[in-house]
Amino acid sequence: MLIFWALFGALVGVAAAQKRGFGTAGGIIGGLLLGPLAVLMFFASGSRVKCPACAEWMQKKANICPHCKTPVVK
Ligand SMILES: [Zn+2]
Repeated sequence: MLIFWALFGALVGVAAAQKRGFGTAGGIIGGLLLGPLAVLMFFASGSRVKCPACAEWMQKKANICPHCKTPVVK
């Protein structure tokens, strides 16, 4: 799954690089680096949030962190 997103990021990077004139290699490297980050950002803004106490990912709907049992204040 992560590989899929890395490839997706690379494709996006190449497309962006060609638009801006960075070249394909730079686009692939940038995409591979930014692709997983973009996915993390997607999850962060989606259904998952980071626990403020232990920094583990958890469901946005959860009232108690499954990792450290800290009640989540909303
Ligand atoms: Zn926690």
